[in-house]
This record gives sequence, structure tokens and C-alpha cells, in this order.
Amino acid sequence: MAEHKRDYYEVLGLSKGAGDSEIKKAFRKLAKENHPDVNPDNQAAEARFKEINEAYEVLSDADKKAKYDQFGHAGVDPNFGGHHGGGGGFHGGFHGGMDFDLGDIFSSFFGGGFGGGTSTNPNAPRKGQDIHVEMKVSFEEAAFGCEKEVNVPTITDCGTCHGSGAAPGTTPETCPQCKGTGAVQTQRRTAFGVMNTTGPCPQCNGTGKIIKKPCETCKGKGKVRKNQKVSVKIPKGIDNGQTVSVRGKGNAGLNGGPAGDLLITVRVRPHPRFEREGYHVHSRIQVSVVQAILGDELEVETLDGKVKYTIPEGTQSGTVFRLKGKGIPHLRGSGRGDQYVAVAVDIPGGLNTEQRELLEKFGESMGQPAAGGKKGFFKKK
Ligand code: ZN
Repeated sequence: MAEHKRDYYEVLGLSKGAGDSEIKKAFRKLAKENHPDVNPDNQAAEARFKEINEAYEVLSDADKKAKYDQFGHAGVDPNFGGHHGGGGGFHGGFHGGMDFDLGDIFSSFFGGGFGGGTSTNPNAPRKGQDIHVEMKVSFEEAAFGCEKEVNVPTITDCGTCHGSGAAPGTTPETCPQCKGTGAVQTQRRTAFGVMNTTGPCPQCNGTGKIIKKPCETCKGKGKVRKNQKVSVKIPKGIDNGQTVSVRGKGNAGLNGGPAGDLLITVRVRPHPRFEREGYHVHSRIQVSVVQAILGDELEVETLDGKVKYTIPEGTQSGTVFRLKGKGIPHLRGSGRGDQYVAVAVDIPGGLNTEQRELLEKFGESMGQPAAGGKKGFFKKK
């Protein structure tokens, strides 16, 4: 039987079931400490470094990790009899977040934060990139919600080769140089002796595969850019700058990994007469002097159309009245904000003689006789 191996979680100083970010963090720290470059001629550190790498290679790969969690070393050791080698249909438990771009898909899988770097299995499923777009909506659409279509340039699996990158009828071959791992060890001579470092395989650029006859549609990339029409539901009450996400409408994943998400940041167009403050709406209404003095029933514009509101006699300019529940619907749950309406009294100018005399009489009756030269001017005639 195989030699006794330490538990991979134990090697990284983690407890079983540790998450991706914990695993990555522990690996980076330990690999740095035990790297041959910082521990010349230290056989124990070198052995430990190998052990750490091996543990990380398994635990950082969703597929291998799942097998390891289920079967232990037997699940991932190729020398252990191939009865688990089928690969199954495992796609869950993968926490993405690894960025990639078409021209540069694999470079990000290499080169950690320390000299030499390390590799992860290039054949492991990876979540696709999220796509960020902005969407303009009207004041009312933001208030009450809407459904809109957006055009999103998306990286999708090539329809001709179904993402393999190989011409129809052919399949990619395992790279002979790296045996499909995507990584090769290179030896370097240094003052301290021979050092082994791991880097992307130059023959397959770290993909682990060689495509002899590339697909003509995607030029062997397996992915194409395509304009995707996505219908997006904007919830009621959303405010300027808030983001809505549509799962799985981002860029395609790698090796069967899930697609990224589509993130839509909402830009609300300003309204000519309404201003928003949280869930409240502010507006103004102009009334005549007579309306302000005598009071009146007004028609007030709201998000729900016109409503009637009675201002009392003697309403001052600048008075703010509240229309309860006429504001913006709450984003979560029920209820709405209020509308605050500020009264602006319109002072008329350019009165004719009759109007002027009436007003002067009114002033006198109020004990406020009009004064000044203009009075004299009218009196002359
Ligand atoms: Zn193709």
C-alpha cells in the first residue's frame, strides 16, 4: 500500500471543511516560510514545501477537494487504483472570484505572491467573470419598479466547438510536456545549489491541453464575444447608484464552472418637479396672493397623479405641507415615504389702475395705507 500521508488539512494547519479563502491564505503563508529560496540546504523545509504544495493542489481544486473530503487520499492519489477517476458530475461547492480575460485566461492562475509561484489544476471548473453595466431609469421607474432589457457584450462558450476550442470532430489533446497539469518544474542553479521552481507549461501556456486543429469560429479560444439581451427587473424604491444583480448572466465559466453574474448599477434621471430624499419626495406649488390669503383647494401633482389639498386662509409663502404616503415605495417591505410640498406665493406685478385702487383700499382697511411716490402718480389724473 501507499506510504502514510498526513491529512491535507492538517498539513495546512486547518480544520476539515475550511473554505477556499482560508486554504489560500494558509498556503501562501506556509509556502513563503518554507520556500527553498529562503531555506537553502534545509531538507526538512524542502520536504515540507512539497507537502504543502501537494495539499494545496488538492484542496484548491473543487473537484479534487470533493473527492478528498469523501475518500481521503485514496480519492485523489493517481497511484491508488483508478476506480474514482471517472470525475462524476461534481460542480457544486465552487466559490469563484478568480478573474480572467480572454487573452490572459491562464496567467492569473500562476505566480502567487512569492518567488517561483505555484500552480492549480488548469482543468478545474472556474466561475466566469461578473459583468458591470449601468442602466438609466426615470424617476417614476425607480419609484415603482420596472422591467427593462439591456444589451450586454458577454463572453460565452463558442457554439461551434461548445467551448473546447477544437475544430468540430476533434478534441483537445493532453499536453505531452506537462501531462495535462499545465505546470512544469524548472531547475535553476544558484549559489546554494539547484532550485526547483514551478511555472506555466510553455508548450500549452498552462492550459494542459494542445489543440491541433483550432475551431475556426473562436480561433481555438473556446469562447466568443456575443451581445446578450437580458431582461432586468428593477425593484420599486431603488435609488440612484444602487445595484441589481442577475445571477449567471455574466461571462461564461471555465471547464464547466458557473457563469459570472450581471451587475446593473441604476442611474435615476432627475425629475423636473420632484426631488428625492430617501423615500420622501419634495416639490413646490405656486399659489396666487388671493389663494394664499383666502385659502383654497389646490390640485397637487404627485407620483400617483393629481390629488386635492386644501390650504387654509392666511397661508404664508414657504409653508410646507405633507402628503402622507405619497412618497417613494420602500425597497423592502411595504409602506411609502411622504411628499412635502412647499408653497410659493406668486406676487403679481403690472396692475392696472382699478386693481391698484382696490388694493390701496384693501390696505387702508387693514390699517396699512400704501405710501410712496407711485400712489401720487395715480392720484394725479
Ligand atoms: Zn469554437
